Parts: sequence; C-alpha cells; structure tokens
Amino acid sequence: MHPAQTTARSADHRWGEYHDDVVSLHWRLILAPKRIQDYVLAHELAHAKYGDHSESFWNTVGTLIPDYQDRRESVVLMPQAFLCERDVSR
Ligand SMILES: [Zn+2]
Repeated sequence: MHPAQTTARSADHRWGEYHDDVVSLHWRLILAPKRIQDYVLAHELAHAKYGDHSESFWNTVGTLIPDYQDRRESVVLMPQAFLCERDVSR
C-alpha cells in the first residue's frame, strides 16, 4: 500500500493503473470531482494487494472508501475512460 511513485499520463484510456509499485492516473482525473479522484486512487492502491477484483479486493477498497459502490457507479458512467483493464464492469 505504499507505491514508490505516482505519475500522471494521458497515453491510454484508463483512469488509473497499478503496475510495479507505480500508480498511474489519467490527467483528466484532475477535472473529476474529488470523491471520484479519491475512489480511483483507493481502487489502484487496493491493486497493490490484489491483482484482481476479488471480494478481498473490494473489502480493501471499502476500508478506504466506505461508500465506494456509489462512487464506482459514477466512474462507470463517465464516458472518457474506464478504470482499469481488469475492471470487469466495462
Ligand atoms: Zn481495477
């Protein structure tokens, strides 16, 4: 849960990505509401522990963002990008 660095990027269609201890966030996330920014960050940090979207993964997200399900729906409705390639909802 301690990424070595956080980077901003625009080269792909993901809001966020976790890979090799680096959380990458889409630059458009700056324009999103803070509650969405927090959710995306918590989602990617949870991938530091779990590489999938298992129940344990969502439990970890839930400890960081108790109302993550509401926020997750908001992210899914945002057309510009999707959360991560592993997100089975898209
Ligand atoms: Zn994910």
